Amino acid sequence: MAFGSRPAGSGKHRGSSRLSKKTAGYAGIAAIATTGVVGSLAAPAFAADNHSSNIGMDNGLGAVVVADELAGDISEQADAQHRAAEHAAAKAQAEADAKQKAAEAKRLAEAKAKAEREAAERAAREEERKRLNTFVAPVDGSYVSTQYHAGGGMWSSGSHTGIDFHAASGTSVHAVGVGTVVEAGWGGAYGNNVVIKHNDGTYTQYGHMTSLNVSVGQQVTPGQQIGLSGSTGNSSGPHLHFEARTGSQYGSDIDPIAYLRSHGVEL
Ligand SMILES: [Zn+2]
Repeated sequence: MAFGSRPAGSGKHRGSSRLSKKTAGYAGIAAIATTGVVGSLAAPAFAADNHSSNIGMDNGLGAVVVADELAGDISEQADAQHRAAEHAAAKAQAEADAKQKAAEAKRLAEAKAKAEREAAERAAREEERKRLNTFVAPVDGSYVSTQYHAGGGMWSSGSHTGIDFHAASGTSVHAVGVGTVVEAGWGGAYGNNVVIKHNDGTYTQYGHMTSLNVSVGQQVTPGQQIGLSGSTGNSSGPHLHFEARTGSQYGSDIDPIAYLRSHGVEL
């Protein structure tokens, strides 16, 4: 090592204790320094400093400078290690951020899918609500063959309590609106008949049918088939007798055309 080049007996003891302390420190540092950089820098640095002692500077200062430069190298290593640690931390943070971002994107996608599902369900419910609130004619593509309150000996009351829809025997008869079947069976002059109570408290009646498809207590929806038309009971021929009523019993009839029109049915 270059320490041996210090001139012997220089008589300058002032800095000796400091030098030995620094040298010891240097030796300790050198012992743990493993890179070639430290060793190669140390010798010229000391040599240059040793040269400066020829112009009267304290030799101890040279060791201090070398130690300081070595300390600077160690510091650079420490800085590099610190930067590497910072880089690793930044990388870990970036990975954590990316993970969090992905989780957030997943959460948003799921929320969006849920919102879309709920919107579709709402639309379906609304569609169903509309369908259930819609009224239809009891026979498709038909027409009124006998008007409400038409006179004649045919009717016990002296006038027609409903309207007749033209319908060949076996034509599908529909519930005009959502409701509950309160009568289904033989109705005397009405033949095989069905009475439905609707949600607004009104009733509709369907008479002279050949066969019935519903029974008392059954819920029906608009357009649902409740039977097939015919000419049972007091009937002059196949048709559908249709009544609208404010109550379930005979005599509470109201104008069926006005009733159906008020529920949006075009006749
Ligand atoms: Zn009739």
